[in-house]
Amino acid sequence: MRYEGGVYRPPGEWQSYILQATVGCSYNKCTFCEAYKKKLYHVKPLSYVLDDIAMASVRYPNTETVFIADGDAIALPMDYLLTVLAALKDAFPHLRRITCYAGPISTMEKTAEQLKQLKENGLGRVYLGVESGDSELLKKVKKGVDAQGMLKAGLALKNAGFDLWVTVIAGLEGSGEGYKKNALLTAELLNAMAPQHISVMTYMATMGTEMYEDVMAGRFKMQTPREALLETRLLVEKLNLPGAHFTANHMSNYRPLKGTLGRDTDLFLCQIDEMLAQADRVKQRTIYRHG
Ligand code: SF4
Repeated sequence: MRYEGGVYRPPGEWQSYILQATVGCSYNKCTFCEAYKKKLYHVKPLSYVLDDIAMASVRYPNTETVFIADGDAIALPMDYLLTVLAALKDAFPHLRRITCYAGPISTMEKTAEQLKQLKENGLGRVYLGVESGDSELLKKVKKGVDAQGMLKAGLALKNAGFDLWVTVIAGLEGSGEGYKKNALLTAELLNAMAPQHISVMTYMATMGTEMYEDVMAGRFKMQTPREALLETRLLVEKLNLPGAHFTANHMSNYRPLKGTLGRDTDLFLCQIDEMLAQADRVKQRTIYRHG
């Protein structure tokens, strides 16, 4: 209802009531991410957030899904989160899902029991930005954890019972043969984590980030459409997660894909191959502009 600055949410939450409990991202160091760079991270006063929920319950009484923003709401203190979850349940009689983003570091600051308690009290789905399974690359983009740390966070969320939605970014390694290593290591990590949902985006430079400066200065060469498609193809081929929901339908992707791994894997590979046949005529997507 009352928002500080621009608010981001996962694409699947377009119908959700967005409750802004934190402003910004508690980590905010990733070199590719612009989302919260202009926001100084802080937690909104609980009474203010409870007032927001009360207002929303009058205005949107039929709310079924709620996304708790901003970038890393799992970082909120337990008492705070449990109070918000209870208030949401009281406010919206038709509520069937509450979700939020979960950073790997703040996830691991919660104990297994605390994560379970959040799940039992209504936080149903969490979105984890895995980005890559390559520790070197995660270090380069300052993700704050290596592949092992990311796996631990993902498994902690899975073991707590959350519906886990992860995102990975093709092209973070730039142009060249590096896509092979990234795809293989990312598939390995995801196969071990076994999330229920995987979304793949393709890296586009966003103004206000360190990587954008590197792109502009020629220090980072963006992947070509062919390399991006080959990386996604290799990832899809190596994912062994039958039944997992898979999407690569962000505007950054050169071939939109949506379906279920296993059942649709061959279809995805055919669709990518069709696109690869014309990849040299496709315009390279380099800069992402909001709005
Ligand atoms: S943890 Fe997520 S929201 Fe925070 S800076 Fe990194 S990518 Fe952006």
